[in-house]
Amino acid sequence: VIIAVARESAPGERRVALTPETAKKLVAAGATVRVERGLGALAHFPDQAYADAGAAVLDGDVVEGADVVLCVQPPPSDAIARLKPGAVLVGALQPQADEARGAAIRDAGVVAFPLERLPRTTRAQAMDILSSQAGIAGYKAVLIAAQLAPRYFPMLTTAAGTIRPSKVLVVGAGVAGLQAVATARRLGAQVECFDVRPETREQIESLGGRFLDLGVSAAGEGGYARQLTDEERALQQQRLGEHLRGIDVIVCTAAVPGRPAPKIVSAQMVAGMKPGSVIVDLAAETGGNCELTRRGETIDSGGVTIAGPLDLASQGALHASEMYARNVYNFVSLLLRDGALAFDWDDELLARTVWPERGAA
Ligand code: NAD
Repeated sequence: VIIAVARESAPGERRVALTPETAKKLVAAGATVRVERGLGALAHFPDQAYADAGAAVLDGDVVEGADVVLCVQPPPSDAIARLKPGAVLVGALQPQADEARGAAIRDAGVVAFPLERLPRTTRAQAMDILSSQAGIAGYKAVLIAAQLAPRYFPMLTTAAGTIRPSKVLVVGAGVAGLQAVATARRLGAQVECFDVRPETREQIESLGGRFLDLGVSAAGEGGYARQLTDEERALQQQRLGEHLRGIDVIVCTAAVPGRPAPKIVSAQMVAGMKPGSVIVDLAAETGGNCELTRRGETIDSGGVTIAGPLDLASQGALHASEMYARNVYNFVSLLLRDGALAFDWDDELLARTVWPERGAA
């Protein structure tokens, strides 16, 4: 098989779906690997490292005629249209998020594996791009908050007096939220966190955080949260509003699969926060957990700084790429037998991830 990787086309995307490490493994598995010159430049993987791994480093259209194409962000629709029928496309494709892209995949007869569709089973963990990238995002979100804050995170006892530690509240204790709790703790902050899934209490506490009990429990399907009812939301809002007056930093990470981010921090709550407080809203991509968040912007609202960064994982491009590429490699390994493509549709990881869904017209 020919496996090809072109440079990412989305603005600001620094990650890559193939590293020299995974290129070497694919070559060892019998694949011919082609990469576009400069592929890993923004993630600090030089062309020479790919060449040393046995990949062909080429100028021009590397994906033409390829059997398997790997990506982070979906390629533009016209690039998808140039893939050969039956070619496999693997990445964070989100075909349902963009009609033109979905149509391009369908029309080209491409077998797409949008990795965000992987069932989150134990076996799939090594391929789980949502987890590997969310971890980086949670870590970076805390560093951004620390950078924007006019306060120290740790407690300090100095000749100039004692500095109280910052109080950090992490909203949502999924993969990103738990990494945010751990990172803020390492910086010495006092950390609280809440989630609507009750099992998160133990996870938060094991990282040195305090579970903030807002009295709302809403576990949904497949280990995810469900949307709150109006009454549950009102209860959460009321208890949270009072609590936020004492908080210096909020890191928002709450999400419900397939829905816009739940609105948790209202404009009124922000108005009640101390001047110099900071909110970093990792949910900005899907609308934000804070009512005032603006996608990709950092704004000031009555002395409270609110950041809605969109490229958090990309900011840690080297490690994000290493993990993403391993996720992709582990998935692609399921498709390869003796150096050729072979689809085992009895394997739920393939059958449930492929798009368009099998049997769908
Ligand atoms: P996510 O990004 O969908 O959501 C982030 C968090 O927001 C979740 O913990 C969710 O409960 C929380 N949330 C949603 N609505 C909320 C609200 N109104 N108020 C407060 N919190 C709210 O989730 P994720 O991080 O991708 O993963 C969630 C769960 O799935 C975790 O338990 C994780 O361990 C599990 N998981 C399992 C696997 C696996 O077994 N392969 C892989 C990844 C994640």
